[in-house]
Formats: sequence, structure tokens, C-alpha cells
Amino acid sequence: MNIKFIFETWSFPERNLPEPSRIFQISPCELHSTYVESFSSYICRLAEAHMMLPTIFLRRCILKNFSEETLLYLYRSFNRLNGTAEYIDMLRKEVEKATELSNLQNLTLFGLKNLFNFQQLIKRYGAWCPLCLHEWRELSQPVYIPLIWHLQTIQCCVKHAILLQTACPKCNSLQHILHRYSRVGYCERCKTWMGQEFINGHNASLEQINWAQWIKHNLNILFREVDKGTEFQRQQVISAMEYYYTSDKKIKNELKLAGFKDIQEKIIKGQLLTFPNLMAFCKVLGLTIDDLLNQVQPTDIKEITNEKFYLRRKKRDMGLIKQTLVLSINSDKHLYPTLQNISVDLNCSVNLLRRNFPGLCTEIVAKYKNNKDSEKKKTIQKLRNTIYELHRQKKYPSRRKVGEIFGNMNFNRKPMLREVWHQALTELGYEIK
Ligand SMILES: [Zn+2]
Ligand SMILES: [Zn+2]
Repeated sequence: MNIKFIFETWSFPERNLPEPSRIFQISPCELHSTYVESFSSYICRLAEAHMMLPTIFLRRCILKNFSEETLLYLYRSFNRLNGTAEYIDMLRKEVEKATELSNLQNLTLFGLKNLFNFQQLIKRYGAWCPLCLHEWRELSQPVYIPLIWHLQTIQCCVKHAILLQTACPKCNSLQHILHRYSRVGYCERCKTWMGQEFINGHNASLEQINWAQWIKHNLNILFREVDKGTEFQRQQVISAMEYYYTSDKKIKNELKLAGFKDIQEKIIKGQLLTFPNLMAFCKVLGLTIDDLLNQVQPTDIKEITNEKFYLRRKKRDMGLIKQTLVLSINSDKHLYPTLQNISVDLNCSVNLLRRNFPGLCTEIVAKYKNNKDSEKKKTIQKLRNTIYELHRQKKYPSRRKVGEIFGNMNFNRKPMLREVWHQALTELGYEIK
């Protein structure tokens, strides 16, 4: 071929393209609002976008250069993932590096760590509003878990005025903050979708809703400050507490009535309040958190002595706890709660239940165990019936055929069920392939 023309040459100006991010970038939900997504929820969605399980995603894509010991430590600390622990900031920086995002600080409470102590801050297990989850899915919006639902002091969804749920509606399992099989909106154990269109009998009280709104309002102020780059100092809160406690007798009395009896001791020792107590402190004075930190003189001191339900020093209602335990023993639901389920609902420890009601606790554990045993027997019987029925129809009970009728194609992954299958095959004279 003869080339008769000499084509013109093109010269491109040198372009400075930004470095591509190491992994796929998705934006956190509701970034600059109080409904901001939690860090654990963001990691789950990020992992899902990469078609990976969350822990494998973290290991392979985010924390590639970390030692096994560090990873193990991290995995064990996931229940505090949205709180104020130091390791959270390290993990956040790694995620930011990998996604080339720089605005993930408000997905945890780390930026507020100097304002309150870490006790009574973050729930040990997940909590969610099934109506919110359902709504987001129906509107084809991303389904996520807002940070505010992780706060121990928040018991309800402000939007739907219902109590947040803490156990899977199908298998009653509690949900870890971040688990190998975590997927936002789905049960980590039985994979059931946990959103619901309607829910009966879980209405929140007016006190709980007002309290949640108060927290939401104050968090909004705090997150705005963190966005602006404000770094809160521990001394700011201690000085504010001292100012209000010593400046006015009326304030002092009202604080004492609201349950703040050891404030003076805390001021001397330089100790911080818990998050719910700090919020209650503000509420007594009728001040928002930024007014409190700026030591604004209160004009309207609220008498909240009848709203003390959220204060730490409130006496536990042992009658109510006993009633709940008795109710759960007598319940005719097909799912019996574990002691852990009950303790999460009552916001107390399992040890407290065992210490105060040893008899009732033993009964609950026994009932749960019996129920689990009978469920196990039923499953085994169902599997055996399926295998025998296929044999009767002169079909070989293969894994696929059994799985189709049994309703679980992966039944053989459970050692117990695989054993039953093999045993039934031997009984029927088949050779195990
Ligand atoms: Zn809701
Ligand atoms: Zn479940």
C-alpha cells in the first residue's frame, strides 16, 4: 500500500488528572444532616458495591498492609465502630485514602470525643426502624443505618414514632454492628429482609420522642461545628459545668433535683459526663450544647424532674423487668427470646437479670433451649421425609432434588443436616457419591 499523504500530527496539552481512587467511590447518605449514615453502614454498603463480604472487603481492599494481630483486634472491636475509640479514626483515614473521599469524619462520634465519656454511648447491637427501611427500598433510595440509631439513648424513630427494633422478625437474632455476613437491612443470620410496611404495638412514648428530638437537634449543632473544623476541648465542658453549678443557687438546686448530685466531685476530678447526662444537663438549663459551651446565661430553667427516665442515676424499675421476664416465659410466640434479647430491650446487662431474678432466668434459658431442640428435631424430620418421599418416587435423593423440596439448596453445608442426609441415603441402600 502506498501512502501518499503525510497526516498532520496532533499534540495534546499535558493533563494533570487526579489520581484515581483505589476502590469504587460511593457517597455516604445524608452527609450533612442528623440522619447521616453510620460508619459501619457505610462499610457494609461499600463492600456490597464491590460484591464482597464486609470483613473480606476490609482485609483485601482497605487494610491490606496490616498485620493479622491488628486485624484481629479490629474485628473484636467492631461493636464500638461508630463511637469515639482511637482505632476508628485510623480506620476512617484508611477508608478515605482508598476512596479518595475526605469527609467521613461525621460518620462516627470521634470528633466529639472530648465532650463526653464513652460509657452509655453506643449500642452493643444494631437497631433499626423497619418502616424507614421499607420506605427507602420502595423509593429506590439507598438503604442505610443512620448514626443516630446507634446511640444508646435513642430508643425510637422520630419520623415514625415507633420503637427501634433490635431483633430479626424471623429468627429473633440480634444484629452485630459489623459482622462477616452484615448486609444493611438484612438479618446476618437468616438473611431475611427486616424492613416492614406496617408494625403493630411498638409505639414510642411522647417522652421518648421529645428526648430523641432534643438529641437530634443538639447533634445537628455539634456536627455542623465538626464540619467547620472545630476541635472541642475537654476543659470547655468542665469549665461550663463549673460555671453553671457554682453561679446560681436556683440552677444548682434544679440540677440536684434532676439527679446530678455528684457534679462537684466530677468538676474537681475533671471527669466528663456520659452523653445522655450531658444532654440532660443542657435540657435542665434549657440551653443547646453550643450555648452551654459558650456559657450563655439560661433564661428559662426547665423543671424536668418528671422526665428523669433518661438520667443514669434513675432507679431501675425492677417491677417492670420482672414483668417482662414473666411475659416472655408465658409468651406463645414461636420464637422465644434469649436472655441477651431481653437485656437489649430493657437496656440492662444479662448479669443484672441473672443476679436479681435467677429463677426466672433459668426458666427462660431452659425454654429457649427446649424450643431450639424441638425446632431441630422438626427440621431433621422434614429432611428425612423429603429424602424418603423422593426414594418412593424412584428418584435418587441428590443434593439438588432434596434442596429444592426442602427449601434450602445449601442444606448440606450444615454438618448436622449433611449427616442426616448421608445416614438416610445409607438406610435406603444408596451409595454416597
Ligand atoms: Zn422510621
Ligand atoms: Zn434472622
